[in-house]
Amino acid sequence: MRSASPFPSRGSPRSWRDKSWSRCACLLKRSAISYVRLRTPRGCERQPATPFIVPVSLEGVPAVTSPIVASERHRVTKITITPIAFRDLPLLNTVGVHETFALRAIVEIETDSGFTGLGETYGDAPHIARLRMVARDLVGVDIFNVSEMRRRIILALRADTTVGGHGMSGMVTGSSTPDRVLSPFDVAALDIQGKVVGRPVSDLLGGAVRSEIAFSGYLFYKWAGHPGQDEDSWDAALDTAGIVAQAQRMVADFGFTALKLKGGVFTPEEEIDAVLGLRKAFPNHPLRLDPNGAWTVDTSINVGQVLDGVLEYLEDPTPGITGMAAVRREVPMPLATNMCVVSFDDVAPAVREGAVDVILSDHHFWGGLRRSQALAGITETFGLGLSMHSNSHLGISLAAMVHLAAATPNLDYACDTHWPWKDTDQDVIVPGVLSFHQGAVAVPTTPGLGVELDRDALARLHEQYLKCGLLNRDDTGYMQSLQPEYELLSPRW
Ligand SMILES: [Mg+2]
Repeated sequence: MRSASPFPSRGSPRSWRDKSWSRCACLLKRSAISYVRLRTPRGCERQPATPFIVPVSLEGVPAVTSPIVASERHRVTKITITPIAFRDLPLLNTVGVHETFALRAIVEIETDSGFTGLGETYGDAPHIARLRMVARDLVGVDIFNVSEMRRRIILALRADTTVGGHGMSGMVTGSSTPDRVLSPFDVAALDIQGKVVGRPVSDLLGGAVRSEIAFSGYLFYKWAGHPGQDEDSWDAALDTAGIVAQAQRMVADFGFTALKLKGGVFTPEEEIDAVLGLRKAFPNHPLRLDPNGAWTVDTSINVGQVLDGVLEYLEDPTPGITGMAAVRREVPMPLATNMCVVSFDDVAPAVREGAVDVILSDHHFWGGLRRSQALAGITETFGLGLSMHSNSHLGISLAAMVHLAAATPNLDYACDTHWPWKDTDQDVIVPGVLSFHQGAVAVPTTPGLGVELDRDALARLHEQYLKCGLLNRDDTGYMQSLQPEYELLSPRW
């Protein structure tokens, strides 16, 4: 007997299925026609225009591809990019020392429906030039259509002739330029989308699976102050005792339950001693060591074997995927990276060579929050761990990191943050929303990112940018200006 189900059974007569397919094809054809009519001014093309010939541009050009009706669109009408500088401390790393100011750029998007959204990114001059280059082409795009934003950014960047501006002082140079440029626009678009629908960004990313995000205390060797300036509120940390004291203050002030030491500054033996000192002082805190590729393969293997059972993971002991794979075969702990896997192009070779166990995501160079979730899917697929990288940042980025972490179920580790190294008066958001309790930040529950721009603070930090004279992050150049004999070496030991 024939089934009463409206769906074809395995035994459906071929003629029935043929008719169904024919009907489907007809519907598809019709929808394809309307698709074209919705998407191109000419309306009669059978295929949507390719990315190479669609006009890039400008306000009024109807290249928006969202299927929602026009009355529901929220088109970008204005983008403002403001470079800012905030005071930074003399934190040491393997390429030099942090300068007196850290540079960032604040991106504001406005829509014709009256919404505004915020993004934050690197403040290096070539990066700002690229942001400005693409911004004019994002005017007119529906704020819900980040895919269209990305397409236009890729197209616009074909005219890019600038070099550098990676924001990472030479430690990470292989990240994708389109992803790096897209990131603040993606975050600002999500901020607006959240405000439009009245939901926090974490909801737009699939929903929060945790209400607070754990961060690690990020320890640095440092001087007591910038040469020629007053000492800052943190003491010098130039040996094991200094690092342990710094950790004790950081844990007391912020409640961190995991600790990471930025290494690659002193000899591996001294840094092993510092890690062992931390282990003694904090017997239950997961510990990480990150020398930023300062060691040869042999040195990395030696350090890894000495610290067996001490480290939660060893981060970028040596440069490059092949070197990391060689180390990984010989050391007992997981290897993590934010240096040899920094773009989607790096994932396949890293997996093929067995180079890493943990990838540190960073929405600033992985293309924003949704692209970072794509990375999370990849790490899940290949059984890799996922953590989160940070460099010097302000509250807009912290909010974005928190929403992303909340909606990423397989984020396996406490995230990195430079937050403790920033004075409280050095930010552009209205204070109060983001705070640390027991080493964690509660996920904002108000619409969008949940943070508000403090315009007076933005003006003040922009003025600092204009006065500080810095246009690019240059840890090595600053170190050499203070210690002319300083050499940039990779690997150093
Ligand atoms: Mg790192």
